[in-house]
Amino acid sequence: MGDFKHKHSLGQNFLKDKKVLTNIIDSVDVQEDDLIIEIGPGQGALTRYLKLFHANLICFEIDIRVKKYLDNFVDDKTKIIYQDFMKVDLDKVLKDIKYNKLYVISNLPYYITTPIIEKVSNANVDVEAMVLMVQNEVALRLSAKPGTKDYGAITVLLNYLYDVERLFFVSKYAFDPVPKVDSAVIKLSKKKNKLVVEKYDLFVKLVRDSFRMKRKNIRNNLKMYNLDVIKSVLSDYNLDLSVRAEEIPLECYVDIVNELSK
Ligand code: SAM
Repeated sequence: MGDFKHKHSLGQNFLKDKKVLTNIIDSVDVQEDDLIIEIGPGQGALTRYLKLFHANLICFEIDIRVKKYLDNFVDDKTKIIYQDFMKVDLDKVLKDIKYNKLYVISNLPYYITTPIIEKVSNANVDVEAMVLMVQNEVALRLSAKPGTKDYGAITVLLNYLYDVERLFFVSKYAFDPVPKVDSAVIKLSKKKNKLVVEKYDLFVKLVRDSFRMKRKNIRNNLKMYNLDVIKSVLSDYNLDLSVRAEEIPLECYVDIVNELSK
């Protein structure tokens, strides 16, 4: 837009396709007493649409150069904070705001996709849903099913926390400047039927260890754990120790961790 010099290092590809913007806001049911967090409003393409909800809105933007595009959006329900989102103390910012449900809606800066999702997930806040524009490849990975090549440790860990849906594909030509990769919008909703692991840290470690050596089976990747216990849980799923991590469903990982925690 105008003479603005986009910073590639900050993932500054601005969304210009109105249909995509409409589809993003149609994917959530935000009410006036809810709160939306937008990460990286840029020149406000998505912010303009988010304002249609008349909800509370807080945007975090690292690049102060866009202030002139965003000033018009500020009012008693909309705040723009010029700060690196990764350095924001979310609990502190949210502590003084009254709201019903919390949504995170963002066309993410791709260089910190996973750190942002992790930061929100680890914060002491209850997120109703996140609707996020990510690289298509990442969207496929996060929503992959067991037994497919995209199914990885991050898929299992994220699906434990959220119901993950890949909503729709977005061509790279929907952005200005046009990036190298295509995108997709994903929705992470608060889990409806959440499984519970006794020891979350052990769950994270075991899932990461399971996928450590891609070509190795569970017997090799998990040899530092009690393999008798793991074998017995796997047999409930008609699996054995020769299985590879990408074939094991979330429920089975949860059962393994809970049996190991006994
Ligand atoms: N929301 C706008 C849109 O849809 O056109 C811009 C999206 S653009 C893909 C990503 C935005 O995130 C940029 O405005 C960039 O400056 C901002 N950004 C990059 N790193 C950030 C960070 N660490 N914290 C907050 N904003 C960041």
